[in-house]
Amino acid sequence: MTRIGGTWQNWARSAEVRPIRVERPRSPEGVQRAVVAGTAHGLTIKAVGAGHSFTGIAIAPGVLLELDDMQGLVSADAATGRVTLLAGTRLHRIPGLLAPHGLAMENLGDIDRQSIAGAISTGTHGTGSRFGGLAAQVVGVTLVTADGALLRIDEEHEPELLPAVSLGLGALGIIVEVTLQCVPAFVLQAVDQPAPLDDVLATLSERVSSADHFEFYWFPHTDVALTKSQTRMPESTRRQPLPVLGRWVDETLLSNGVYRVVCGTGRIAPAITPPFNRLAVTLTGDRRYTDASHRVLTQSRTVRFREMEYALPAANVVPAFRAVRALIEQRGWRIEFPLEVRFAAEDDRWLSTAYGRATGYIAVHRYWRADPTVYFEAVEQIMIDHGGRPHWGKLHTLDADALRERYPRFDDFVALRDRLDPDRRFANRHLERVLGE
Ligand SMILES: Cc1cc2nc3c(=O)[nH]c(=O)nc-3n(C[C@H](O)[C@H](O)[C@H](O)COP(=O)(O)OP(=O)(O)OC[C@H]3O[C@@H](n4cnc5c(N)ncnc54)[C@H](O)[C@@H]3O)c2cc1C
Repeated sequence: MTRIGGTWQNWARSAEVRPIRVERPRSPEGVQRAVVAGTAHGLTIKAVGAGHSFTGIAIAPGVLLELDDMQGLVSADAATGRVTLLAGTRLHRIPGLLAPHGLAMENLGDIDRQSIAGAISTGTHGTGSRFGGLAAQVVGVTLVTADGALLRIDEEHEPELLPAVSLGLGALGIIVEVTLQCVPAFVLQAVDQPAPLDDVLATLSERVSSADHFEFYWFPHTDVALTKSQTRMPESTRRQPLPVLGRWVDETLLSNGVYRVVCGTGRIAPAITPPFNRLAVTLTGDRRYTDASHRVLTQSRTVRFREMEYALPAANVVPAFRAVRALIEQRGWRIEFPLEVRFAAEDDRWLSTAYGRATGYIAVHRYWRADPTVYFEAVEQIMIDHGGRPHWGKLHTLDADALRERYPRFDDFVALRDRLDPDRRFANRHLERVLGE
């Protein structure tokens, strides 16, 4: 997220706005004052996190609340593993805050730049068929509602609302504190291995169920999948981190540096994309390493891209993936970013992409300067045909009517929104599209 001359832009440069006012509250009481003042002036009010959503979900045309001064630990209980964080806390700060208590977050997505409130609000997830997304780790939320009041939801206070407010799209109020159920700190033993794509597809469910965390990347125009399998180990396990060079190849050169070159050039000379994709597979190679969970689960991404990701019933991943592969071949597109395939356990968060079903995710990307529309819309149709639900923070074209059919608790969520925000203080155009007016 950046602000240049009063204009706010998201990370992917796919959404921007000039808010009427920007405020940086330093406390929950400061958020309450901002909400009351915004309401008195008839303005809408929205908190932004790190601006890492690809859609306009964080657009704040009225009052934009930056919560960067609301970071840190409110309380931690090593015995129960319950930890309360201020809502603006960036994910990359959390491991350092939890370390003195011997705790870690149960699972993470593939980067750690987001704020905890932003990450849970859009259903950010990682991979692992026995683990839910970040919102599934939430056991308590404190919100400022449209009337400026503090509302605490946890197992003692309106517990039936927890599955709604822990993944609320920013539509129910401004989150000021988040309580997470953490786990004892652990390390991950990781194996990164290229394998023939057809073998990976043929054995996918065994691969997914035999690892704690499994995912694979497929670079279009190759026959190889880069698989990543991770096993959870006690914190005392001897660490053998990825050598600095290995991490550099992965993060600087491969994920970011060479991409920067190829994505810039690829637009002019798309013919170099297939050979580059083959090179990328070769460079990543076969690797084993053991390190703290957050160091294995997350990487850095500095090359900007646009992304669409759909959640499918896990059993539909292979047919949907094969359909996308055939589509790319038929259309002759040159796609410079890999497809990413991940998994999650079913959960009970009303608007979770994994609500009520074991889930697999297929994500497609394009360099930010390339127009993703034709590719994404064609892939989206395949995902819809396979029972897909779009990630709330990533690009898609569905509206409230289409989403209602995909979420059994959609109308309950809308009813709660009507109760907590009857005048739509926390609305924006994107929320009008996906939730209705
Ligand atoms: C490079 C990159 C990698 C990514 N990797 C993954 C991944 O591995 N897995 C995955 O699932 N997603 C991933 N994402 C998507 C990202 O995790 C989500 O879009 C997430 O919402 C971004 O968090 P944020 O802090 O930037 O929130 P923002 O994008 O700033 O905001 C998201 C929403 O949360 C709301 N919000 C923020 N703070 C508050 C608050 N205090 N109270 C109420 N509402 C609030 C905003 O109003 C908005 O509606 C990735 C995105 C990028 C750019």
